[in-house]
Amino acid sequence: MLKGKTALVTGSTSGIGLGMAVALARQGANVMLNGFGDVEAARAEVSRLGTRVSYHGADMSKPTEIEAMVRACEAEFGSLDILVNNAGIQHVAKVEDFPVDRWDAIIAINLTSAFHTTRLALPGMKRRNWGRVLNIASVHGLVASAEKSAYVAAKHGIVGFTKTVALEAATTGVTVNAICPGWVLTPLVQKQVDARAAQAGISNDDAKRQLLAEKQPSLQFTTPEQLADLAVFLCSPAADNIRGVAWNVDGGWVAQ
Ligand code: NAD
Repeated sequence: MLKGKTALVTGSTSGIGLGMAVALARQGANVMLNGFGDVEAARAEVSRLGTRVSYHGADMSKPTEIEAMVRACEAEFGSLDILVNNAGIQHVAKVEDFPVDRWDAIIAINLTSAFHTTRLALPGMKRRNWGRVLNIASVHGLVASAEKSAYVAAKHGIVGFTKTVALEAATTGVTVNAICPGWVLTPLVQKQVDARAAQAGISNDDAKRQLLAEKQPSLQFTTPEQLADLAVFLCSPAADNIRGVAWNVDGGWVAQ
């Protein structure tokens, strides 16, 4: 379905981003990977699907590196058609204890980076009159949790940004949408599970059960593959008129 298209997935060396890269490649898209994890393992996993795969190590907190990555993607593949703004970090602390550098990093990586990639990729998408911007927000773009002020601010911000850009592109073939996952067991969440287990002196499995029980009524983690299938749908012709949604995939989290 996506043969001949090129996808840039930020933060795609692990977790949800890697799942997105694999699913888009399976549909025939060429992929540019990005992120600080195990690059060679990610590249090998996506390359198996037979499309062209590339990597750029841009630090998503640095606008000049982001610009270099978008330009490199367009130069190498001839276009950037599907932009998945996925890179993200987390820090958990009460607001009065929140380290200023962590606040700045979360806003830069989880929110401002999407402004830069989008402003740079959009002109080419509009010229070709086809494009998909998928912002990996979070249920924390819709509701809050204590001790996540920077993350919740960034994710609410990216949901607002999604709606605005969707409106600006509404008469074109470029759609802009957000996906809002609840708990997905990736390295980002495993850190929170480990911290909970250590703090409460409980097993890792008990910490996972507690984490789910507090927020996610299905008591099951969503998988990166499930989110990637939604991304593939949002890239399909059936989704041509889906614009500016913030689509939660959260086991019932925000229905409560
Ligand atoms: P992850 O830690 O597995 O992946 C994060 C990716 O971002 C990695 O590839 C990492 O190297 C990359 N990254 C981090 N800082 C970067 C930087 N400065 N420049 C470039 N790349 C950078 O985490 P994940 O859970 O897969 O998270 C992916 C996205 O999904 C994030 O935006 C996160 O907020 C969001 N999300 C995750 C969950 C969850 O439960 N895991 C839920 C809702 C939303």
